[in-house]
Amino acid sequence: MSGRHRAEGAPEIIVVAIDGPAGSGKSSVSKATARRLGYGFLDTGAAYRASTWLALEQLGDDLEKFSDDELAAVVDARVEAGEVSIGVDPDAFVARVGDIDVTDAIRETRVTRSVSRIARVQAIRRALTELFRQSILSCTRPGIVVEGRDITTQVAPDAQVRILLTASEEARMARRSAEVSSQPAHVTASQLRSRDEADMRVVDFMNAADGVLTVDSTELDFEQTIDAVVAVVRDETARNSHGL
Ligand code: C5P
Repeated sequence: MSGRHRAEGAPEIIVVAIDGPAGSGKSSVSKATARRLGYGFLDTGAAYRASTWLALEQLGDDLEKFSDDELAAVVDARVEAGEVSIGVDPDAFVARVGDIDVTDAIRETRVTRSVSRIARVQAIRRALTELFRQSILSCTRPGIVVEGRDITTQVAPDAQVRILLTASEEARMARRSAEVSSQPAHVTASQLRSRDEADMRVVDFMNAADGVLTVDSTELDFEQTIDAVVAVVRDETARNSHGL
């Protein structure tokens, strides 16, 4: 997958791949970066969440009871048929499964609790990776910011701009607890830690792969983090356009 792919004759699209753990500010920073640059925005975690929502609807609340093959059987065909769709407009995000708008439902605790199970199924990862590549190719803007866990390494390893957005564990826990006011901070922190641990078994999103630039947001506020990411995008695209 080239970071500069397009249909023949069409202008090349700039792909900005951003990986990182939960609580690094990845989603909101990626979306704001896309807005500032006039790019599309693809939240790949939302597709894992929509697939999880679908599996929960079909199989009930305990996905751990099912094998990889059983989980893939309820998810893959629907992804391949184009029924799981994630919008790329940073100003009007929408997630759908078939005709159902699941934009809010995919943020529910029951989905967050089970999403790492779905993310472990390699067949589902392959189907979703293909969906992401199609979304990148069909984006009509000059660029697209794609964020997740394996974008810099698997989905778009030759993207023009590849960033790992990190923050100290303490900063990530504090940010996530401020977002989730419905439960004590220590509960949110322990949920985040166990999701990171489960996800780390599938892909390493804590250490930058070769050629991936790290932006550490521990000491930065939201606007400063966007400024830092936009600066990396401008530097890297300028370097690439000069063939450096
Ligand atoms: O980014 P978000 O927290 O919404 O992602 C939800 C989950 O989707 C993650 O915890 C991880 O299990 C999975 N995921 C993944 N690969 C990606 C994006 C998300 O495995 N590229």
